[in-house]
Amino acid sequence: MDALTKKAAQATPQFRAEEIKRPTREEAEAAVKVLIAWTGDNPARDGLIDTPKRVVKAFEEFYEGYGQNASEVLDRTFEDIDRYDDIVLVRDIPFYSHCEHHMVPFIGKAHVAYFPTDAVVGLSKLARVVDIYARRLQSQERLTAEIVSSVDEALKPRGVAVMIEAEHQCMTLRGVQKHGASTITTQFTGIFRDDPTEQVRFLTLVRGGSAT
Ligand SMILES: [Zn+2]
Repeated sequence: MDALTKKAAQATPQFRAEEIKRPTREEAEAAVKVLIAWTGDNPARDGLIDTPKRVVKAFEEFYEGYGQNASEVLDRTFEDIDRYDDIVLVRDIPFYSHCEHHMVPFIGKAHVAYFPTDAVVGLSKLARVVDIYARRLQSQERLTAEIVSSVDEALKPRGVAVMIEAEHQCMTLRGVQKHGASTITTQFTGIFRDDPTEQVRFLTLVRGGSAT
């Protein structure tokens, strides 16, 4: 796949990539109505009459990442870094996502680090990338991996490290109902993967100064 085709593929929402026709807004609202009735409530009562519209609107926000492209966000780099070649870490990036198994939120923090070679990216762009992948139906593992590979591909750094800590409401509100349980995922490439000292530095920086 050439670079342009690849970019286009990334920008394409997954349902299109899989050739599943996107339902209309009206169809989506009707589906919410069915789910409301399924709970046992009456979708026609006053308090619920506009709920399908609101839910579909909220979905547009929750899942806006499908229409966004991380490689475009990371496109603009800065080369004037005066030989800076050590870790760049953006810590405690808050995010919310929705688990793909239950469509309920998982909420947490991402820590994203890389070792620049020739260029750096605007720091807020790393936070944007987290959001682009978080605002999709996700697993925490895939979210971690997608952030790593987009930074890796865009910046070609000496290494990327990502840690995500999150609380999954599908664990706290339903099923085993383990309040306060958090899930940690990490993924490393390059120098972070190959050099245990750099891995430890990353973990220490992530923890350093944190309230916990
Ligand atoms: Zn779940």
